[in-house]
Amino acid sequence: MKQSVKLIVGNWKMHGVSADVSEALALKEGLAGAPPSCRIALCPPATLTDRLRRVLADSAVEVGGQDCHEKASGAFTGSVSADMLADAGATLVILGHSERRAAFGETDADVAAKVEAAMAAGLEPIVCVGETLEQHEAGQAVAVVSAQIAGSLPDGLSERDFAVAYEPVWAIGTGLTPTLEQIAEVHAAIRTAMIQRLGEPARRAPILYGGSVKPDNAAEILAVPEVGGALVGGASLKADDFLKIVHAA
Ligand code: PEP
Repeated sequence: MKQSVKLIVGNWKMHGVSADVSEALALKEGLAGAPPSCRIALCPPATLTDRLRRVLADSAVEVGGQDCHEKASGAFTGSVSADMLADAGATLVILGHSERRAAFGETDADVAAKVEAAMAAGLEPIVCVGETLEQHEAGQAVAVVSAQIAGSLPDGLSERDFAVAYEPVWAIGTGLTPTLEQIAEVHAAIRTAMIQRLGEPARRAPILYGGSVKPDNAAEILAVPEVGGALVGGASLKADDFLKIVHAA
Protein backbone atom coordinates (compact mmCIF):
# COMPACT_ATOMS: atom_id res chain seq x y z
CA MET A 1 0.00 0.00 0.00
CA LYS A 2 1.18 3.50 -0.85
CA GLN A 3 -0.43 5.42 1.97
CA SER A 4 2.59 6.56 3.95
CA VAL A 5 2.30 9.92 2.17
CA LYS A 6 -0.91 11.88 1.56
CA LEU A 7 -2.79 11.16 -1.66
CA ILE A 8 -4.11 14.29 -3.40
CA VAL A 9 -6.53 13.57 -6.24
CA GLY A 10 -8.05 16.12 -8.61
CA ASN A 11 -11.48 15.33 -10.04
CA TRP A 12 -12.09 17.43 -13.14
CA LYS A 13 -15.64 16.03 -13.49
CA MET A 14 -17.17 16.91 -16.90
CA HIS A 15 -14.78 19.82 -17.39
CA GLY A 16 -11.84 19.81 -19.72
CA VAL A 17 -11.18 19.98 -23.43
CA SER A 18 -7.82 19.82 -25.15
CA ALA A 19 -7.02 23.47 -24.27
CA ASP A 20 -7.20 22.60 -20.58
CA VAL A 21 -4.28 20.24 -20.92
CA SER A 22 -2.26 23.42 -20.32
CA GLU A 23 -3.35 23.24 -16.66
CA ALA A 24 -1.82 19.77 -16.35
CA LEU A 25 1.35 21.06 -17.97
CA ALA A 26 1.42 24.00 -15.53
CA LEU A 27 0.99 21.54 -12.66
CA LYS A 28 3.91 19.47 -13.91
CA GLU A 29 6.07 22.58 -14.31
CA GLY A 30 5.02 23.88 -10.90
CA LEU A 31 6.19 20.64 -9.30
CA ALA A 32 9.45 20.45 -11.20
CA GLY A 33 11.50 22.62 -8.85
CA ALA A 34 10.02 21.28 -5.64
CA PRO A 35 9.31 17.54 -5.65
CA PRO A 36 6.09 16.97 -3.72
CA SER A 37 6.05 15.02 -0.49
CA CYS A 38 2.66 13.62 -1.42
CA ARG A 39 1.23 11.38 -4.12
CA ILE A 40 -0.75 13.27 -6.78
CA ALA A 41 -3.29 12.25 -9.42
CA LEU A 42 -5.56 14.04 -11.87
CA CYS A 43 -8.80 12.44 -13.02
CA PRO A 44 -9.91 14.16 -16.24
CA PRO A 45 -12.86 13.23 -18.45
CA ALA A 46 -12.09 9.86 -20.10
CA THR A 47 -11.42 11.59 -23.44
CA LEU A 48 -8.36 13.30 -21.96
CA THR A 49 -6.85 10.31 -20.17
CA ASP A 50 -4.25 9.54 -22.82
CA ARG A 51 -3.48 13.23 -23.48
CA LEU A 52 -2.82 13.88 -19.82
CA ARG A 53 -0.78 10.72 -19.45
CA ARG A 54 1.51 11.93 -22.23
CA VAL A 55 1.69 15.51 -20.91
CA LEU A 56 2.45 14.25 -17.40
CA ALA A 57 5.04 11.69 -18.50
CA ASP A 58 8.27 12.14 -16.53
CA SER A 59 6.33 13.74 -13.68
CA ALA A 60 5.11 12.29 -10.41
CA VAL A 61 1.50 13.03 -11.33
CA GLU A 62 -0.67 10.00 -12.10
CA VAL A 63 -3.81 9.98 -14.23
CA GLY A 64 -7.09 8.37 -13.18
CA GLY A 65 -10.66 7.79 -14.30
CA GLN A 66 -13.85 9.18 -12.78
CA ASP A 67 -15.96 6.04 -13.25
CA CYS A 68 -15.91 2.76 -15.14
CA HIS A 69 -18.34 0.13 -16.32
CA GLU A 70 -18.46 -3.10 -14.36
CA LYS A 71 -17.80 -5.20 -17.49
CA ALA A 72 -14.48 -5.31 -19.34
CA SER A 73 -16.13 -4.89 -22.76
CA GLY A 74 -19.43 -5.51 -24.53
CA ALA A 75 -22.58 -3.93 -25.91
CA PHE A 76 -22.77 -1.03 -23.48
CA THR A 77 -23.01 2.02 -25.73
CA GLY A 78 -21.37 5.09 -24.26
CA SER A 79 -19.59 3.32 -21.43
CA VAL A 80 -15.87 3.09 -20.66
CA SER A 81 -14.40 0.03 -18.98
CA ALA A 82 -11.66 -0.18 -16.38
CA ASP A 83 -9.50 -2.03 -18.90
CA MET A 84 -9.92 0.87 -21.35
CA LEU A 85 -8.89 3.39 -18.71
CA ALA A 86 -5.86 1.30 -17.82
CA ASP A 87 -5.01 0.97 -21.51
CA ALA A 88 -5.15 4.77 -21.82
CA GLY A 89 -2.70 5.16 -18.95
CA ALA A 90 -4.89 5.47 -15.84
CA THR A 91 -3.55 3.97 -12.63
CA LEU A 92 -6.57 4.65 -10.44
CA VAL A 93 -10.29 5.31 -10.73
CA ILE A 94 -12.87 7.19 -8.66
CA LEU A 95 -15.94 5.01 -8.04
CA GLY A 96 -19.28 5.66 -6.34
CA HIS A 97 -18.98 9.45 -6.46
CA SER A 98 -22.17 10.96 -5.04
CA GLU A 99 -22.93 12.55 -8.40
CA ARG A 100 -22.97 9.05 -9.93
CA ARG A 101 -25.01 7.67 -7.03
CA ALA A 102 -27.55 10.52 -7.29
CA ALA A 103 -27.75 11.19 -11.04
CA PHE A 104 -27.20 7.66 -12.32
CA GLY A 105 -28.82 5.70 -9.50
CA GLU A 106 -25.68 3.76 -8.59
CA THR A 107 -26.21 1.51 -5.59
CA ASP A 108 -23.61 0.13 -3.21
CA ALA A 109 -23.83 -3.18 -5.12
CA ASP A 110 -23.17 -1.37 -8.41
CA VAL A 111 -20.16 0.34 -6.85
CA ALA A 112 -18.83 -2.97 -5.49
CA ALA A 113 -19.10 -4.51 -8.99
CA LYS A 114 -17.17 -1.59 -10.46
CA VAL A 115 -14.52 -1.91 -7.76
CA GLU A 116 -14.11 -5.56 -8.76
CA ALA A 117 -13.72 -4.49 -12.41
CA ALA A 118 -11.10 -1.93 -11.42
CA MET A 119 -9.20 -4.55 -9.43
CA ALA A 120 -9.27 -6.94 -12.39
CA ALA A 121 -7.88 -4.19 -14.63
CA GLY A 122 -5.10 -3.37 -12.19
CA LEU A 123 -6.54 0.04 -11.31
CA GLU A 124 -6.52 1.37 -7.76
CA PRO A 125 -10.12 2.17 -6.77
CA ILE A 126 -11.03 5.28 -4.79
CA VAL A 127 -14.42 4.46 -3.29
CA CYS A 128 -16.55 7.48 -2.38
CA VAL A 129 -19.03 7.59 0.47
CA GLY A 130 -20.89 10.46 2.11
CA GLU A 131 -24.17 11.58 3.60
CA THR A 132 -26.71 14.05 2.18
CA LEU A 133 -27.56 17.30 3.95
CA GLU A 134 -30.80 15.79 5.25
CA GLN A 135 -28.93 12.80 6.67
CA HIS A 136 -26.27 15.10 8.12
CA GLU A 137 -28.86 17.24 9.88
CA ALA A 138 -30.55 14.11 11.21
CA GLY A 139 -27.25 13.00 12.77
CA GLN A 140 -27.02 9.98 10.45
CA ALA A 141 -23.60 10.59 8.86
CA VAL A 142 -21.82 7.75 10.64
CA ALA A 143 -24.63 5.27 10.01
CA VAL A 144 -24.88 6.22 6.33
CA VAL A 145 -21.16 6.00 5.53
CA SER A 146 -20.77 2.80 7.55
CA ALA A 147 -23.54 1.15 5.50
CA GLN A 148 -21.99 2.43 2.26
CA ILE A 149 -18.63 0.98 3.25
CA ALA A 150 -20.19 -2.38 4.12
CA GLY A 151 -21.95 -2.53 0.73
CA SER A 152 -19.37 -0.97 -1.60
CA LEU A 153 -16.14 -2.79 -0.70
CA PRO A 154 -15.97 -6.26 -2.30
CA ASP A 155 -14.16 -9.31 -0.94
CA GLY A 156 -10.49 -9.41 -1.84
CA LEU A 157 -10.06 -5.65 -1.79
CA SER A 158 -7.91 -5.83 1.33
CA GLU A 159 -5.19 -7.53 -0.70
CA ARG A 160 -5.02 -4.56 -3.05
CA ASP A 161 -4.11 -0.89 -3.05
CA PHE A 162 -7.26 1.17 -2.66
CA ALA A 163 -8.55 4.31 -1.00
CA VAL A 164 -11.84 5.51 0.42
CA ALA A 165 -13.00 9.12 0.05
CA TYR A 166 -15.36 10.68 2.58
CA GLU A 167 -17.30 13.29 0.64
CA PRO A 168 -20.31 14.78 2.44
CA VAL A 169 -22.74 15.44 -0.41
CA TRP A 170 -23.68 18.83 1.03
CA ALA A 171 -20.04 19.94 1.03
CA ILE A 172 -19.36 19.19 -2.64
CA GLY A 173 -19.12 22.35 -4.71
CA THR A 174 -20.86 24.43 -2.04
CA GLY A 175 -17.99 26.06 -0.18
CA LEU A 176 -19.31 24.41 2.99
CA THR A 177 -17.23 21.95 5.00
CA PRO A 178 -17.86 19.94 8.16
CA THR A 179 -16.02 21.04 11.29
CA LEU A 180 -12.63 19.42 11.79
CA GLU A 181 -14.16 17.47 14.69
CA GLN A 182 -16.91 16.14 12.42
CA ILE A 183 -14.35 15.11 9.79
CA ALA A 184 -12.33 13.31 12.49
CA GLU A 185 -15.41 11.54 13.84
CA VAL A 186 -16.59 10.30 10.45
CA HIS A 187 -13.13 9.26 9.30
CA ALA A 188 -12.69 7.23 12.49
CA ALA A 189 -16.07 5.58 11.87
CA ILE A 190 -15.11 4.82 8.27
CA ARG A 191 -11.90 3.18 9.46
CA THR A 192 -13.89 1.02 11.88
CA ALA A 193 -16.34 0.04 9.12
CA MET A 194 -13.48 -0.78 6.72
CA ILE A 195 -11.86 -3.07 9.30
CA GLN A 196 -15.19 -4.73 10.08
CA ARG A 197 -15.70 -5.36 6.37
CA LEU A 198 -12.18 -6.35 5.29
CA GLY A 199 -10.21 -7.09 8.44
CA GLU A 200 -7.00 -5.61 9.77
CA PRO A 201 -5.35 -5.05 6.35
CA ALA A 202 -7.89 -2.29 5.75
CA ARG A 203 -6.01 -0.22 8.31
CA ARG A 204 -3.45 0.57 5.61
CA ALA A 205 -5.74 2.14 3.00
CA PRO A 206 -5.89 5.95 3.05
CA ILE A 207 -9.18 7.73 3.72
CA LEU A 208 -9.35 10.96 1.72
CA TYR A 209 -11.56 13.90 2.60
CA GLY A 210 -13.43 15.61 -0.25
CA GLY A 211 -15.87 18.51 -0.34
CA SER A 212 -14.84 22.14 -0.91
CA VAL A 213 -11.15 21.56 -0.22
CA LYS A 214 -9.45 24.84 -1.16
CA PRO A 215 -5.97 26.32 -0.79
CA ASP A 216 -7.02 28.12 2.41
CA ASN A 217 -8.49 25.13 4.26
CA ALA A 218 -6.37 22.26 2.91
CA ALA A 219 -3.64 22.33 5.56
CA GLU A 220 -6.01 22.15 8.53
CA ILE A 221 -8.15 19.43 6.96
CA LEU A 222 -5.13 17.35 5.96
CA ALA A 223 -3.85 17.54 9.55
CA VAL A 224 -6.98 15.87 10.96
CA PRO A 225 -6.33 12.35 12.31
CA GLU A 226 -7.15 9.64 9.74
CA VAL A 227 -7.26 12.12 6.84
CA GLY A 228 -4.92 10.44 4.38
CA GLY A 229 -5.36 12.91 1.56
CA ALA A 230 -7.91 14.92 -0.36
CA LEU A 231 -10.26 14.47 -3.29
CA VAL A 232 -10.50 17.90 -4.89
CA GLY A 233 -13.09 19.00 -7.44
CA GLY A 234 -13.32 22.68 -8.39
CA ALA A 235 -9.93 23.64 -7.01
CA SER A 236 -8.20 21.01 -9.17
CA LEU A 237 -9.15 22.76 -12.41
CA LYS A 238 -6.58 25.50 -12.01
CA ALA A 239 -2.97 24.42 -11.55
CA ASP A 240 -2.21 27.33 -9.18
CA ASP A 241 -4.94 26.32 -6.72
CA PHE A 242 -4.19 22.62 -6.98
CA LEU A 243 -0.48 23.23 -6.41
CA LYS A 244 -1.26 25.14 -3.21
CA ILE A 245 -3.28 22.17 -1.95
CA VAL A 246 -0.48 19.79 -2.93
CA HIS A 247 2.00 21.92 -1.02
CA ALA A 248 -0.30 21.94 2.03
CA ALA A 249 -0.11 18.14 2.19
C1 PEP B 1 -15.74 16.32 -5.79
O1 PEP B 1 -16.45 16.48 -6.75
O2 PEP B 1 -15.27 15.20 -5.55
C2 PEP B 1 -15.45 17.46 -4.94
C3 PEP B 1 -14.90 17.25 -3.78
O3 PEP B 1 -15.77 18.70 -5.43
P1 PEP B 1 -15.40 20.15 -4.76
O4 PEP B 1 -13.97 20.08 -4.33
O5 PEP B 1 -15.61 21.11 -5.88
O6 PEP B 1 -16.32 20.34 -3.64
